[in-house]
Amino acid sequence: ITADRPGNRNVRCVCVYGKKRIELNNTLYIVVPCYNEEEVLRETASRLRGKMRALISAGKISGGSRVLFVNDGSRDKTWEMIRALSAEDALFTGVALSRNRGHQNALLAGLMTARGRADMVVSMDADLQDDVDAVDRMVDEYLSGADVVYGVRNKREKDAFLKRFTAEGYYKLLDAMGVEVVFNHADYRLLSARALDALSQYGERNMFIRGIIPMLGYKTATVTYERGERFAGESKYPLKKMLALASDGVYSLSMKPLRFITGLGVTLLVLAAALLIYAIVRLCMGYTILDWKIVTISVWGVGGLILLALGIIGEYVGRAYMELKGRPRYHIGETVGLDRKL
Ligand code: UDP
Ligand code: MG
Repeated sequence: ITADRPGNRNVRCVCVYGKKRIELNNTLYIVVPCYNEEEVLRETASRLRGKMRALISAGKISGGSRVLFVNDGSRDKTWEMIRALSAEDALFTGVALSRNRGHQNALLAGLMTARGRADMVVSMDADLQDDVDAVDRMVDEYLSGADVVYGVRNKREKDAFLKRFTAEGYYKLLDAMGVEVVFNHADYRLLSARALDALSQYGERNMFIRGIIPMLGYKTATVTYERGERFAGESKYPLKKMLALASDGVYSLSMKPLRFITGLGVTLLVLAAALLIYAIVRLCMGYTILDWKIVTISVWGVGGLILLALGIIGEYVGRAYMELKGRPRYHIGETVGLDRKL
């Protein structure tokens, strides 16, 4: 039996062990990638438990909803804590990757585990920087028909000037490169089951998830929230990982750097032609034009530009090589609590 819910989401009647029970069709999974998060995990779990309980009693999500922690090869007690949480409360489930594969892969592992189990999935960081209360509004948007709900931070005052400046510059760079991005949105978002199915069809090995989501094309909505400080511990995104993620965003989603090289080549050729004409004219007028400074600067300058161009091409070639191998993005080592009923 199906009945109408707000939007076009349905209520479904299921039969459990011969007894009839009405179950909402809206199963929510909250996916939380965790890398060395033992300091925050208890607090995160207790806030998420409160949130899930409230949503279940309000009838917005089904009793089969779960929190899914993804342990990204942590070196501390994170996985032990996830197992303990799951033993205490069936609401908590976990998957452990066989080793550290980075935030985007951990997130994908969680999303793909939730796929087929959930009607909607919210992804959020473990450190409580993403305001848990925004989940309510995300679910409301889902119930009114949105397939993708972006969590967008409303201000960046809490960030250090340098972080704010580089983040804004980076969003502008992506925009200039023709990459569709939602400004001030990271990986706090809700995806419906069909958006998740669509995401699973993107096979790239180095995935910059937030650059792919706008390509899905389903109905989107935005929820703004204030991004707080990390609850405890320190950032698991050192500069090196941040730069790797940033360059993935550009090279895996845009071909513009290659066109930039062509443009640069054409400009240099035009300049060289102009210089040649100038030199011929000066020679005809009886001047010598041999100037070691100009020669040195040109050789070094052009040499530098060629190396830059080679570097850019190399980024694409290297990525194409990795994509060609098609290696798996992650392996799942263990799971906990995934096939249990509440
Ligand atoms: N994370 C992960 N694997 C990594 C690095 C980070 O799963 O290799 C997780 C981390 O536990 C957190 C999220 O990714 O839940 C975002 O990391 P963090 O909060 O340290 O980044 P920041 O907010 O400083 O950019
Ligand atoms: Mg954080």
